[in-house]
Amino acid sequence: MNKNKQDKFDLIVIGGGSGGVRAARIASLHGAKVALCEKDRMGGTCVIRGCIPKKLLFYSSQFQNDFLYSESYGWSAKQIRYNFNKMIKNKNKEIDRLENIYESNIKNSGVTIFKGNATFVNKNQIKINGEIIKGNKIIIACGGTPVSLEIPGSNLMDDSDKIMNLKRFPKSLTIVGAGYIAIEFAFIFANLGTKVNLVVRKNILRGFDDSLVEEIRKNLISKKVKIFFDSQVEEIKKHKSNLKIHLKNKKFVSEKVLAAIGRQPNIKNLNIGKIGINLNSSGAIKVNAKLQTNISNIYAIGDVTDRINLTPVAIAEGHSLADRLFSSKKRDVDLSYVGSAVFSSPPICSIGLTEVEAYKRYKRVDVYESKFNSLKYSIVKNKNSTYIKLLVNNKNDRIIGAHMLGEEAPEIIQIIGVAINAKATFKNFVNTMAIHPTVAEEFVTFKEPIRRNY
Ligand code: FAD
Ligand code: NDP
Repeated sequence: MNKNKQDKFDLIVIGGGSGGVRAARIASLHGAKVALCEKDRMGGTCVIRGCIPKKLLFYSSQFQNDFLYSESYGWSAKQIRYNFNKMIKNKNKEIDRLENIYESNIKNSGVTIFKGNATFVNKNQIKINGEIIKGNKIIIACGGTPVSLEIPGSNLMDDSDKIMNLKRFPKSLTIVGAGYIAIEFAFIFANLGTKVNLVVRKNILRGFDDSLVEEIRKNLISKKVKIFFDSQVEEIKKHKSNLKIHLKNKKFVSEKVLAAIGRQPNIKNLNIGKIGINLNSSGAIKVNAKLQTNISNIYAIGDVTDRINLTPVAIAEGHSLADRLFSSKKRDVDLSYVGSAVFSSPPICSIGLTEVEAYKRYKRVDVYESKFNSLKYSIVKNKNSTYIKLLVNNKNDRIIGAHMLGEEAPEIIQIIGVAINAKATFKNFVNTMAIHPTVAEEFVTFKEPIRRNY
């Protein structure tokens, strides 16, 4: 490309992650001339350093349990060995493959890719690699980056980007934080045989239903994860080839330390101050219901707006925004029932209100609950129980929340999301014929509420 060439586009998208790629492709399919700027690898957080590599590592960490259970089913699995480096290599091969698919799909849809860090020159011009490109409309889809802990020795910590590419399998790992990333990696590494410590400043998985949080706490303990509640790391120092972690009243040694204390909008190098884009109190780009910033031709989607930081939300926002800007389709994104899973062992998954939230919002809430060992675990030594909870607004019989811990939880709750979206009632659930023997049948065979708030 010629330097300083003025290229004019209908749309410039900054960020080639989940949201940006979808917005660019859909806008181009609607006939817009689109540029996509990406400073790193195409695919963004989810594909390169988030959902996909994490889920592959999650799968990798599940086999240990499966080998154990298989013995009760007649298999002999005495000689199992784990090759961490092989796993990382295969995972990276898959990420490379997905990145290539992303890149070719973008090109095939007619979008022009610009590789480099994009910065605003003014509200219609972006500078990338010394070149200025002009856009009638601009979508900021820059995602987020890990927050680092501001303590002495924080440079010795890894973040989620690095933990997925360790050169050597860690014998011990201390995780700071207790949200999605902390809990997922605590289970992944504990299952693989790493000695895991979890430093929790208050409680784990804030925002999740209390019953699930309690099940996760018990399962972490059963995996021998050492949890330090009400604790903060004050300092980290080198200790021979390991690290020494200083809490207020305790010190211990660990090979690796992972900071998993949240993510922040990735706007440092955008130069948005120059054009006066408003931020909200958490430093994220502020948008209205139409995903528009205070500058009328500039929009923002996904994690950079720090609302619900999940891939399907970023994708849905990118798609609906491109539709709205470049076609007659008007499909708003409904964020009222967004399900999410934590890939713990077993995973948890939720959609809708927690029990506490439901009691606050509705006067008559029925709680249906069940905890059981599924048939798979009936003949194995180490039980792996399943927990489910269904919340019903007694006034109109509608399902207002569903929560589950169990191997199949994310797959089952996904479909319960469809039912909730279709405004299903409890009667619809219990009138549905069960499929037997399954775990999901528990959701359609409830009889009496276990609790109610009226
Ligand atoms: P991103 O995917 O982060 O894309 C932003 C892109 O913009 C990046 O590629 C970045 O390089 C680029 N960029 C930034 N600034 C510039 C600039 N100035 N110029 C050019 N390019 C720029 N979500 C789920 O739904 N399920 C999961 O299981 C899940 N697991 C996760 C696991 C981890 C470890 C992490 C970190 C996240 C996980 N998430 C998960 C969250 C999910 O990855 C994000 O919500 C999603 O990727 C957000 O998409 P996005 O398009 O907003 O941003
Ligand atoms: P989360 O927001 O989920 O959790 C952050 C955790 O760090 C909380 O436990 C929080 O505690 C704690 N914390 C925050 N600041 C400090 C501090 N200074 N010292 C000690 N602890 C602190 O962030 P994650 O980094 O785990 O993940 C980022 C986001 O990525 C998630 O919110 C989610 O949107 C997405 N994600 C989704 C996944 C999925 O869908 N399966 C998987 C991974 C990530 P407190 O509760 O007290 O504030």
